[in-house]
Amino acid sequence: MPSIKKLLVANRGEIALRIMRSAKEMGIKTVTVYSEADRQALHVRFADEAVCIGPPSSSESYLRMEKILDAAAQTGAQAIHPGYGFLSENAVFAKKVKEAGLLFIGPSAESIELMGSKLGAKAAVARFNVPLVPGTAEPISDISKAKKIAKDIGYPVLIKASAGGGGKGMRIVDKESEFDEQMERAVSEAKSAFGDGSVFIEKYVTQPRHIEFQIFGDQHGNVVHLFERECSIQRRHQKVVEEAPSSLLTPELRKQMGEAAVNAAKAANYFNAGTIEFIMDADKNFYFLEMNTRLQVEHPVTEQITGIDLVKLQIKIAEGEPLPFKQEDLKINGHAIEVRVYAEDPSNNFLPDIGTLKTYKRPQGHGIRVDDGFEQGMAIPFYYDPMIAKMICHDETREKAIGKTIRAIEEYEITGLETTLGFCRFVMNHPAFRSGHFDTQFVENYFKPEVLLPLADKTEEVIAAALAVFVSESITAQQKAPPAPVTTESKWKKNRSIITG
Ligand code: ADP
Repeated sequence: MPSIKKLLVANRGEIALRIMRSAKEMGIKTVTVYSEADRQALHVRFADEAVCIGPPSSSESYLRMEKILDAAAQTGAQAIHPGYGFLSENAVFAKKVKEAGLLFIGPSAESIELMGSKLGAKAAVARFNVPLVPGTAEPISDISKAKKIAKDIGYPVLIKASAGGGGKGMRIVDKESEFDEQMERAVSEAKSAFGDGSVFIEKYVTQPRHIEFQIFGDQHGNVVHLFERECSIQRRHQKVVEEAPSSLLTPELRKQMGEAAVNAAKAANYFNAGTIEFIMDADKNFYFLEMNTRLQVEHPVTEQITGIDLVKLQIKIAEGEPLPFKQEDLKINGHAIEVRVYAEDPSNNFLPDIGTLKTYKRPQGHGIRVDDGFEQGMAIPFYYDPMIAKMICHDETREKAIGKTIRAIEEYEITGLETTLGFCRFVMNHPAFRSGHFDTQFVENYFKPEVLLPLADKTEEVIAAALAVFVSESITAQQKAPPAPVTTESKWKKNRSIITG
């Protein structure tokens, strides 16, 4: 059994730090790579060794396989952890790492390749009786054929890029008269984002909830799930608040979905950490959406409720160890909520608001974890994902975790740029979120920039007064709201290469 003495982390920011912290605790030396924009970054300072791999643009640095492999050779690292985003779901990279005689901390290149195509993944899991959203099994380019299929499935439908990710190339079509235009847009978006214009059609699940299962497999054929994460609070089809467990699942439903998730992983002969994403309709029918073959951004909520360090487990599994537990050994302990702190302006359609962290003070206290990659005075680089931090609050119950999250948001001090913190406090206080009756249209149904209160204004009366006005509007909105169209993304976001899933 190979034992890793030195690990290279092919990533940056909070996730590079998070991985290296676990490695250090295991007595493993750490190497990181960095671009010229990240010379002063915390991950560079934290690592035992750091290698510059090129100019700021990720296509010239964090996405350059050969430079990363050279850095591993130069420093004598025996394994590479890809983190999330960048090369983490690149089958060619996983293969090259293996060919270079190194361990890839993740699944096999074959599993990554199979699950990398949304249609390929659907075909594979269907053989293992995992329920799928009704839709086409093949990519389609002929508009008239596609229109006929959409009619058979029934509107609203969703046109999706086969090679999709990050919510790109996805268009909701409410009625036939809009079909041609939306299909043309989806194809051109898919071409420019992925270099592959193939699209497919799926039933648009109304009032959808995004519920995903963390799975883990070893190289001896064992697979378990580590329960679910509720990720329905999204903007631009991308998550911003996540929690575990989901307030919607009964123990029976959890068991049923967990088994489907384990089966989906088995369909790909999967080992190491992975996530099976499901979409759930208002009647609690669930359907497989896709598999993410890497560590997820929101993995800390799972760590908090299970007490398991997923990165340490990933390293041990890559070294060939069997899973140290069985499904029946795993228990949910309390409730965890993650809020993503992005340098974005919620009152300007959540567009990135890049700048310098003039003030940056993290909240503290029992059950609060902040995973970040910045310090006061640092600038958020323009080149990468604008996430500043993830704040995870853990407590005995959902209600207590919500209360703790609100307190921690109010203690968090960030000035110099706009962030999603105020929006997250709005979510925590909203009756729909509190009652557990919300779906992925939360932002479209309830959020207006006017409802944001200055974070410094902490008086409960002000919050209560604003909410009282808003609740009546919210309930009406929930009853009336049609599925919202997908908004056009900023050019800035299109150029980003981290997928924040
Ligand atoms: P990506 O890989 O681009 O992130 P996903 O397939 O994971 O795309 O979907 C992202 C989000 O889009 C989901 O979390 C959900 O909110 C929404 N979505 C995807 N498919 C459907 C569907 N068939 N019906 C309703 N919403 C969907």
